[in-house]
Amino acid sequence: MRKYDLIIIGAGRASNLAVTASKKGKKVAIIEKSKFGGTCPNRGCVPSKLLIGYAHVAYAIKESNRHFIDSTINKIDVEKIFEETNKYISKIDPAYKSRFNENVEVIYGTGKFVSNNVINVNNEQLTAPKIVIATGTKPILAPHPKAWTSDDIFPLKGDIPKSITIVGSGFIACELANFFAAVGIETKLLVRSQRILGNEDSDISAIFKKEFAKNVDILFDTIIEEINYKNNQFDLTLINKDNQKTKHNSQALLYATGRESNTDSLDLQNTDIKVNKRGYINRNELFETNAKGVYVVGDASGQHMLQHAAAQEVNYLGKILLEGETKPLKFKYMPHAVFTEPEIASVGISEQKAKEQNIPYVTSITPWLASAKAMSSRLKYPRTKFLVDPNTYEILGCHLIGPESSTMMHQILAVMHLDNDIRHLKEMLYIHPALSEAILPAAVNSVKEIEKYKANL
Ligand SMILES: Cc1cc2nc3c(=O)[nH]c(=O)nc-3n(C[C@H](O)[C@H](O)[C@H](O)COP(=O)(O)OP(=O)(O)OC[C@H]3O[C@@H](n4cnc5c(N)ncnc54)[C@H](O)[C@@H]3O)c2cc1C
Repeated sequence: MRKYDLIIIGAGRASNLAVTASKKGKKVAIIEKSKFGGTCPNRGCVPSKLLIGYAHVAYAIKESNRHFIDSTINKIDVEKIFEETNKYISKIDPAYKSRFNENVEVIYGTGKFVSNNVINVNNEQLTAPKIVIATGTKPILAPHPKAWTSDDIFPLKGDIPKSITIVGSGFIACELANFFAAVGIETKLLVRSQRILGNEDSDISAIFKKEFAKNVDILFDTIIEEINYKNNQFDLTLINKDNQKTKHNSQALLYATGRESNTDSLDLQNTDIKVNKRGYINRNELFETNAKGVYVVGDASGQHMLQHAAAQEVNYLGKILLEGETKPLKFKYMPHAVFTEPEIASVGISEQKAKEQNIPYVTSITPWLASAKAMSSRLKYPRTKFLVDPNTYEILGCHLIGPESSTMMHQILAVMHLDNDIRHLKEMLYIHPALSEAILPAAVNSVKEIEKYKANL
């Protein structure tokens, strides 16, 4: 049996832990069944956002009429776009491995538990007093062997299609539909209900729905009843909520209907590790599972499913394992963004969640047009929505829709990080007339709402 100080299963964000531990002289084995770097740089955040860059330029040209500029796109070289994206992906696995020193043993294979502290990989047994599970998630399988999930486009499996049907209503479905539609591939998005980006604040998702549908052909309340694949084409029978059937065909079919736990590959039945109803691994506040010395971080816990959360957890686990940290990591806030046209960024609770949980709040929704830079975009829809605690001035939620929302959100995050009080956003100095200045009237309005609330007590 080979002995290590630390075994890591899954080389996504947890690759960083192998780097840190090995620098401190620990003998580490890191096991990966696919590519080092994991989902984010190989088939997730990064390649999908590289595609969004191309989409952004295409939309800017298509919408230039709004700025009294008459322009047309002569050609979009989608082959080149995927070639460039694939080139980026091909560098990831070697780049990640090059960060390891001689204390790290790199093992390709599927890690499986033989017992609480013994792992089998490639028919060899390894043991360590500390084992970290960082196995992430996988896309829910598509119901047809020729249909794709997001894993099949990074790198692209097969030829570039002339048309694509995408099933789903979450951020991955929307970001991919946004890209394919922008670069001239006939795109249809199928959404099971009337709601798209249903986890967003409902005011924001309503604006999104209206604006996004200007670029992407969406069928709501529709699912696929039957899939036939012949002559390199999907012939689909669609059915809507009124049981009306229609035919639709496309060269590609992509399912982005959610992600699921990877834990089925781990043989957890040989251990004391417990999983929840959705198959995600249970852990305590210090990331330890029901088996002593076995930890779980990142998407494998099913908690946040975001790269920045996984990265922070991995760093923090390093402190626990290597520096004796005993306090739990508490995220004060967890932001996210949807990189589509329009772009969304969000942090904290939505209004529907605040209602459900009976959390006292006041809210305001403010257009961006007080900022000249925002005005110069000639877009009317951008908005900032705040939910604020009327007793403490604490920002409970902030939801932005408009250009560069994900960037704009960081000034709100800085306040939430340092001293969460909406009045800082009202009183701070803004560069006039930067896009960020759009936050000022939103903060002013929220403070006014608090004053009204207090006056009515
Ligand atoms: C299309 C897409 C777009 C995304 N966009 C964003 C975004 O914009 N922003 C954001 O914050 N997040 C985004 N995400 C989510 C983000 O990628 C994940 O939250 C993040 O990668 C989680 O990191 P992780 O280390 O927990 O898991 P992963 O990166 O998934 O790494 C887990 C690794 O474990 C390996 N593995 C699994 N089981 C075993 C086993 N038994 N033995 C050995 N190896 C195993 C897997 O092969 C994988 O490499 C996106 C995801 C997708 C799919």
